[in-house]
Amino acid sequence: MSKIYNVGIIGGGISGVVTALELANYGVDSILFEQQSSVVNGPPFCHLHAGGNLYPEISDEQCKILMKQSIEMARLFPQSIDERPTFISIPKLEKQDIGNILERLDMLVTYYQTLIKEDPENEILGVPKDYYKLYNEEDLKALSKQPTIERPSSPDEWMCNAIKIIDYKKLKTPVILVQEYGWNLFRLAAQAQLALNKSNKCSLKTNTSVTKIKDVRNQKLDYNWEIYTHDAVYKVKYLVNSSGFNTGKFDESLRINTKRLIEFKAAYVSKWQPISGLIPELIFHGERGTPNGMAQLTPYCDDYYQIHGMTKDITLFENGLVQSKDNGAQPEFNDDIKEKLKNGWEDNEIKNRTKKAIDYVAKFVPSFDSATLGGPPLYGAQQISGDDPNLRVGEVSFPSKSYARSEIIKASSALTVANQIIHKIQEEEIIPPIQTKLEQNALLDSISKGEINDFASELAIQRGYPEALSRLLIEKK
Ligand SMILES: Cc1cc2nc3c(=O)[nH]c(=O)nc-3n(C[C@H](O)[C@H](O)[C@H](O)COP(=O)(O)OP(=O)(O)OC[C@H]3O[C@@H](n4cnc5c(N)ncnc54)[C@H](O)[C@@H]3O)c2cc1C
Repeated sequence: MSKIYNVGIIGGGISGVVTALELANYGVDSILFEQQSSVVNGPPFCHLHAGGNLYPEISDEQCKILMKQSIEMARLFPQSIDERPTFISIPKLEKQDIGNILERLDMLVTYYQTLIKEDPENEILGVPKDYYKLYNEEDLKALSKQPTIERPSSPDEWMCNAIKIIDYKKLKTPVILVQEYGWNLFRLAAQAQLALNKSNKCSLKTNTSVTKIKDVRNQKLDYNWEIYTHDAVYKVKYLVNSSGFNTGKFDESLRINTKRLIEFKAAYVSKWQPISGLIPELIFHGERGTPNGMAQLTPYCDDYYQIHGMTKDITLFENGLVQSKDNGAQPEFNDDIKEKLKNGWEDNEIKNRTKKAIDYVAKFVPSFDSATLGGPPLYGAQQISGDDPNLRVGEVSFPSKSYARSEIIKASSALTVANQIIHKIQEEEIIPPIQTKLEQNALLDSISKGEINDFASELAIQRGYPEALSRLLIEKK
């Protein structure tokens, strides 16, 4: 008789891999299907949203959840966290007021202190009193006269380097420096895949697309689902649908009709001239979707910079946000976006959009106009459950027995989702109750920094990106 797995997971994005790793941590077996040749190879991520400061419009509650979940994920994958701060500003021409963000910064400091009190290991964003620092025009003027620091280590040193290249007369003051860090997807993918390969509890099937699922819950068998791939059928007791923006396809085959949005977005890779000191990530806020949407410049090693511009001709796309219809759970992109997702981009469009992205940043960082194309865009589609495009925290639903659907919006929610699924599996008595919560993931911890360095660099090259994108600016011990 073929093996019956406790859990079958469709999709090896961050949600699927963290679920499989957590299950393995508790000794629960699973089988994980990923259609690509390596895991965490879908929509990108580069920013650890530890406080939600890129989103002036979201509630305090969402900011707190983002901070808590970000800290949890950073503890799980420390070698993927780039400990450089983020510069946050609002241009003078914007209607928005910096007040929204300022008001909640103290709330976030207090919340961060509470998290550290609960567990001192949560102190991964530095000491709470340094979580953020404000700078007015006088401070900026003074700092701009200080010498550049090659490897800054204090907020003032980071700000000193940043402000020399920014046209800060265009910005409202105060501007903010906050300890929201970079998040390296190649390093996370490497650590996760190496750990899964090592595990005897998870059977990882890469290059394996799930073509169909069959519901056998009413047939009184020892298992509830059959998972079909092109050449085999697998039996599982519990099904996790973590197929990202495609979750609706499997919902439809189970006749579950749920409202959801899916959104296609892209970030651009540029190469700039060497500058003498490291800079923080730079954020220039603006109303999303308008010609003045937020500009985001993310620094990487060897003078590579990733750019987001929240306008329709840079990161966002005409008809890039689509909603499910009354008669179906899976929204459909237009042919142009489907083609990009399936076969990649035309060279011309890569050049045009990257050029627009560079010009967009150069409005605030004038010398950045000398940057050039550095590689293909990082792009993909993500899901947003329900119908609110401003939702930034999504988790998991359990629409029917023995079935979980992961609905994360930000990568930081992956561990919360995994733990909720594990809780549900015990409740349904698929596995016996777990007595002790494990604080560490022994599998992930067993992967060395050297192994992560080597495999992350291999993954970046395999996927067609500069190798430098697999390294951290601030190297971790
Ligand atoms: C441009 C952009 C920038 C972003 N930046 C950030 C950021 O800075 N910080 C942040 O936290 N989040 C960011 N996000 C969001 C983040 O990328 C997503 O939240 C996250 O990747 C979703 O993970 P997931 O595992 O749910 O889905 P996915 O990563 O989409 O994983 C789903 C997986 O399922 C696989 N799959 C689908 N169908 C099948 C099938 N039939 N058989 C087998 N496998 C299948 C896919 O190949 C894929 O690997 C960004 C998103 C975009 C688009």
